[in-house]
Amino acid sequence: MKNIVSLIVVLFMFSSCGAQNTTTDTKIETSVLESNDRPKLVVGIVVDQMRYDYLTRFESKFGDGGFNRMINEGFNCKNNHFNYVPTYTGPGHASVYTGTTPKIHGIIGNNWYDKETKGMVYCAGDDDAQSVGTEDKAGKMSPHRMQTTTFADENRLFTQGQGKTIGISLKDRGAILPAGHTANAAYWFHGRDEGRWISSSHYMTELPEWVLNFNASTHAESYLKEWNTLYDISTYTESGVDENTFEGGFKGKEKATFPYDLKALSKDNRGYDILKATPYGNSLTADFAMAAIEAEGLGQDQITDVLAVSFSATDYVGHNFGVNSKEVQDTYLRLDKDLERLFEYLDTTVGKGEYTVFLTADHGAIDVPSYLSSLKVPAGYVNNKDRKAIFNAFLEATYGTDSIVENISNDQIFLDRNKVKELGLKLSDVQDAIAMEQLSYLNVSKVYTGTTMGSTGFYGGIEDLLQNGFNQKRSGDVILVNDTSFISYGKTGSTHGSGLNYDTHVPLLFFGKGIKHGETFNKTVIPDIAPTISALLGISFPNGATGQPLGFVID
Ligand SMILES: [Zn+2]
Repeated sequence: MKNIVSLIVVLFMFSSCGAQNTTTDTKIETSVLESNDRPKLVVGIVVDQMRYDYLTRFESKFGDGGFNRMINEGFNCKNNHFNYVPTYTGPGHASVYTGTTPKIHGIIGNNWYDKETKGMVYCAGDDDAQSVGTEDKAGKMSPHRMQTTTFADENRLFTQGQGKTIGISLKDRGAILPAGHTANAAYWFHGRDEGRWISSSHYMTELPEWVLNFNASTHAESYLKEWNTLYDISTYTESGVDENTFEGGFKGKEKATFPYDLKALSKDNRGYDILKATPYGNSLTADFAMAAIEAEGLGQDQITDVLAVSFSATDYVGHNFGVNSKEVQDTYLRLDKDLERLFEYLDTTVGKGEYTVFLTADHGAIDVPSYLSSLKVPAGYVNNKDRKAIFNAFLEATYGTDSIVENISNDQIFLDRNKVKELGLKLSDVQDAIAMEQLSYLNVSKVYTGTTMGSTGFYGGIEDLLQNGFNQKRSGDVILVNDTSFISYGKTGSTHGSGLNYDTHVPLLFFGKGIKHGETFNKTVIPDIAPTISALLGISFPNGATGQPLGFVID
């Protein structure tokens, strides 16, 4: 009896497998790609230089359709951080989309010293690529220096190239790195006297019709208008006084105060490039993103497309006016309106609940150190000139030459290894000696050597962050960490780059298809984003991903 039951079970199994193999093969394959469980479109939004506290500081002034819609309908990861140094734009965008850190994806800075060619290289620069849409070299770009895939690449592989990817940002690197190697297109804004969206031969030989039409329209020009506050400036109680000594401002205007006549100021501020440092740069980005959704039919079938949009104007405004400025507040209130516009557009074109959005940043920013020190908070500026003079004297006295150091950039010292050999010295000894010397300098708080980074595993603290940002092939021989709130920058405006909370703590919001409603104070890190989206889509994680999928945000 038992044997008969077993036989029936086995026969049944064979017959059901047989049925699948012969009659429904094609149907199964299409249904895998055209699953109703997946969003039709994933929209990744990176807000350049957005600190976490901008979400809370300006919350009462935001409307219901932008940031607050994401919070009210979606999932808010309130303790989300970068887990590496340096916190710059290139590494930030690469890490969000590859799910790993510079140690693995290789984007160790915006620019870095290339040990092989003995010169500086740009993270998205590619001499082999040709500009598309301009005669200028601004289009000679590609993601070739990024050594791993993004989740958008994995989606392209999974869907056999049927799911589209488009990257859009004012900054080339903000469009190129997220979109990945296999993107259909990446577009960025070329200002100067052209004011148009361009691309590179990595993606196409000429701009599509809809981009040409957009460029031929008066879109960009229409934003060369007066920039005044969206609401009465007296209601902007969440930022400092408009006139102060901590802001840069535009050339041709004495004070960094509202209003700004952008048309008049554009002449002294690189033409259309002035838009990048105003909220209108973000509005223009949203306009272009919506034009892309329409023309490319993104999210119009069940095969998931990916749109990577980066709002870069926030970074230029932050660098110019600083974290506490009225200009930053106004830029975020206006970005909130642009997000509302974008989400409403997605509701109509793709359908409510049919798309998934995440929003994060590529790094945070420090409060202007001169402002902090005016409030007695320990803060200030690193004196690179003095440091360099003392350091060169040390090198001469110790090694008889300062040419043993090839380059100092991004708080790293690169040694001339041939010179080290020539002098009969051991590399790790020279690294140690230089590290000890640097540690004695004013405002240098910590120093590590490349040998230590490559031979010791760190699992916490600043050492862990430095190691996640350290790429053995590309990074330097000695790594410096400055005192907290001490930066190498002008006395006005904000910058970023450190492993401290002001640079690492950034928003992470998810909303739309497949996302739960909720919030958490549990720590999440930037590399968790890409595996989370991969898990949501049921596709492979990016090939170098080190983050973990945030299961608690997925419905
Ligand atoms: Zn920046």
